Amino acid sequence: MSTVALPPTDDLRARARACLDRIGVVVPEGDDLYARTPITGEDLFGLKGSGAAETEAAVAAAHETFLAWRSTPAPRRGDVVRRFGDLVREHHDDLAELITLEVGKIGAEAYGEVQEMIDIADYAVGLSRQLYGRVIASERAGHRMVESWHPLGVVGVISAFNFPAAVWSWNTAVALVCGDTVVWKPSEQASLIALACDRLLARAAEESGAPAGIHHLVLGGRETGEALVDDPRVALVSATGSVPMGRAVGPRVAARFGRSLLELGGNNAAIIAPSADLELALPAVLFAAAGTAGQRCTSLRRLIVHRDVVDELLPRLTAAFERLAVGDPFDKDTLVGPLISPAPLETMRKAIARVTDDGGKLLVGGDRVETTPESAAAYVRPAVVRIDAHSPVVREETFAPLLYVLTYDTLEEAIALQNDVPQGLSASIFTRDQQEAEIFLSAVGADTGLVNVNLGTSGAEIGGAFGGEKETGGGRACGSDAWHAYMRRSTSVVNYSGEVALAQNISFS
Ligand code: NAD
Repeated sequence: MSTVALPPTDDLRARARACLDRIGVVVPEGDDLYARTPITGEDLFGLKGSGAAETEAAVAAAHETFLAWRSTPAPRRGDVVRRFGDLVREHHDDLAELITLEVGKIGAEAYGEVQEMIDIADYAVGLSRQLYGRVIASERAGHRMVESWHPLGVVGVISAFNFPAAVWSWNTAVALVCGDTVVWKPSEQASLIALACDRLLARAAEESGAPAGIHHLVLGGRETGEALVDDPRVALVSATGSVPMGRAVGPRVAARFGRSLLELGGNNAAIIAPSADLELALPAVLFAAAGTAGQRCTSLRRLIVHRDVVDELLPRLTAAFERLAVGDPFDKDTLVGPLISPAPLETMRKAIARVTDDGGKLLVGGDRVETTPESAAAYVRPAVVRIDAHSPVVREETFAPLLYVLTYDTLEEAIALQNDVPQGLSASIFTRDQQEAEIFLSAVGADTGLVNVNLGTSGAEIGGAFGGEKETGGGRACGSDAWHAYMRRSTSVVNYSGEVALAQNISFS
């Protein structure tokens, strides 16, 4: 395809309006910020943002509601999340369409993102009956030691553009059953989706008898986020976004002894071992690198290929990249939609220029795909660059479809390359050698929060704890025991012996 034929922005605006109407959203029109579609690069609506006073009021109301919500039995708190999940099922198509309209995801991926919201709602409803602590053996006779988990307070959720609904729902569904209330500051690039999610949750609260104040939405950019970061009533700031954002948020929350859960950038790698099943590896690599136009935190950015298989793999990989259909994300044949804005396209171009200056060879892609009519929309062909020499640019996250291919001789060397980046989100290995797979998963293997064998780096399930190490921030969201981050723990000892007994056998008589 030489150019992308764009639909008229008026049609996209009408589609957005129809989805919002079906969900019951009244768009707060204004000129503080703009809802834009990356499909044409044009504005859909001007919106009223939340100023300092509104954000303060939202936190105050969330805190006030928390004081009652924390005493609602957890399984009853689950009722609101159950109803929310039902409403998301009812509006699956509308939400997916809004995701495509506002962040440019292709239909299948937008639909999958909404499925993730349903999955986490189901998970959280089950969790609402499983917020259990432990009974711990006491060293003193006639004493019982228990650990209990209690609601934490107001959770401030700051989210990124690329998972505009799912990431919020991971946090919110779990926080609500844990007895917390939520104030959400979505990405300024995804306000319409946020309005839709907020409306559905408000309906769920109303229909399940939960207080309306369990959830508040504040629209705006960095400054609105900072108001949550600095407010001592916000017990936990769960912030998803770039490493620079986390670098700003983490220390500010820590300075007031608040808690933060940081889900930041990745620089994910997959290793292709000599025994890899290439039929399995190729489509997995293709999706991980080019899916979501390379705009997932878990997108594959580095492919570390054994020297014995690189000559077989590379021509097949570049041919597959060449065949990728780039275009209108509403078109059923499109696999790669637009980038969120022209800025990442520029970053991608610069990264390609730097890596080729350092001895890399551009094998395919990297060129902008023109649109008809001409527009500011940023469509790009996913690129593959082979680089055998060292280049610092490979250690950076370029949030666009750009895959570096590196080669290796020994597994130790491959693991060292995988780990030689500041970020630590996701890693995978393609191998049929079990010993190799086990080493990769072991303490001397990949140092990331997500480590896979024979699948790509992206596409995690909500049942596991999601997040990464190093500059990825160390936070964990979703399943497993990630709910602990949304609660406070108390350790309690009950003395039923009728005698004074000090720990460590201390005598104080
Ligand atoms: P971003 O950092 O530009 O913005 C993320 C959010 O933070 C937005 O809501 C923004 O308004 C807010 N923000 C920015 N600076 C802030 C500050 N100083 N104080 C408070 N709030 C602030 O990120 P983006 O471009 O929207 O998303 C892409 C990035 O997010 C990538 O780096 C990607 O890897 C990362 N990401 C990580 C995960 C994960 O789970 N690890 C998931 C999705 C995206």
